Amino acid sequence: MRYSQLFGKTLKAVPAEAEAISHQLLIKAGFIDQALTSGVYTYLPLGWRVFKKIEQIIKEEINAIGGQELFMPTLQPKDLWLRSDRWDHIDPPLFKLKDRHEKELAMAPTHEEVITDLVARFVHSYKDLPLALYHIQNKFRNEMRSTGGLLRVREFFMKDLYSFHSSSEDLDRYYEKVLNAYKNIFRRCGFEVKVVEAVSGTIGGSFSHEFMMVCPTGEDTVIACTKCDWAANIEKTETQACPLCGQPTKKVRSIENGHIFKLGSKYAEKLGAYFTDKDGTKKVIYGGCYGIGLGRLLATTVEAHHDEKGIVWPKSVAPYQVQLISLSNQQPAVSKFAENIYEKLEKAGVEVLYDDREGVSAGEKFADADLIGIPVRLVVSEKTDNKVEWKERKSQEVKLITPEEVAERLTEEK
Ligand SMILES: [Zn+2]
Repeated sequence: MRYSQLFGKTLKAVPAEAEAISHQLLIKAGFIDQALTSGVYTYLPLGWRVFKKIEQIIKEEINAIGGQELFMPTLQPKDLWLRSDRWDHIDPPLFKLKDRHEKELAMAPTHEEVITDLVARFVHSYKDLPLALYHIQNKFRNEMRSTGGLLRVREFFMKDLYSFHSSSEDLDRYYEKVLNAYKNIFRRCGFEVKVVEAVSGTIGGSFSHEFMMVCPTGEDTVIACTKCDWAANIEKTETQACPLCGQPTKKVRSIENGHIFKLGSKYAEKLGAYFTDKDGTKKVIYGGCYGIGLGRLLATTVEAHHDEKGIVWPKSVAPYQVQLISLSNQQPAVSKFAENIYEKLEKAGVEVLYDDREGVSAGEKFADADLIGIPVRLVVSEKTDNKVEWKERKSQEVKLITPEEVAERLTEEK
């Protein structure tokens, strides 16, 4: 991709209300745009590429634990939400609207109702269980206050997985699998999380866990051990000492990146999801639900990976693997050399963002590259003399290598 043609350029200034570092950097570097209304964002091409990589990681990990992907609607009828008793009781409240026949609908924030109703109609026997279904979709939260960029939004993307079981023991086993899949997802996005027992809120059920990334700019607070890996939700904990090792605990700021729930029979009973067991008896289906916000995950990745100059994307989710900068200074030979490298890399299947802009200073191009945060920066100029300057975003070291070596290094890494 030529930077000169890329839609969504770096900005000089960020909106005053952008408090979170991720919010500032994602807007400034041209990944997202917030011009419409609070808590609603456009993903610009750079941001959408990162989104798609995160989505792919999530799909791989959820498919690996038997998840089947489907797609459910956003517009949902009132009567379904009345059956679960959440039409007036979910927090934050539902986005509600009326169609031209005065029929009331909800813009869904979550899909327990729709999927339990679906499963009630399709699952009849113990032979149909267990079952795990998921989708990735934009959802709506009627927030009181939407600040913090992609960390708190009114329209957001979520992966929600729902599992269905013939017994609570089978649900327990699957819940553990999801917990591990989630840790893999966050690790692959470049950060570690603490798993804490949480308050279930209006999703409900007996038991839930949140995945918290410890981060000084986080909006939540957890109690963490000063010595070992133990952490707990502040609303659940009174303790001054870690129950595992006895060492003192302290409050740390964190960002929530996923919440999983053992729902048990809550929705199945309300929406009539039953199955016939081996012995011929009719039993209620046990369920779990498991969410990850994709925009939030993207923002958290930036919170975890940035410096004073900009974003430092982990390779796994970077929008491009390499940013090629041409400093031709009106010299046709340098331009031609850079064009040549660009074409070769494209041909080799390397994801390359090529800063081919004319009349832009070296300093400005370097600053933009640092802000955008692509893992490898390549520079071609008069001084590099048929070689290419290789520098990784996270390192200060600069090396001069041949175009052949560049191609080798980048295709090896793929
Ligand atoms: Zn401890």
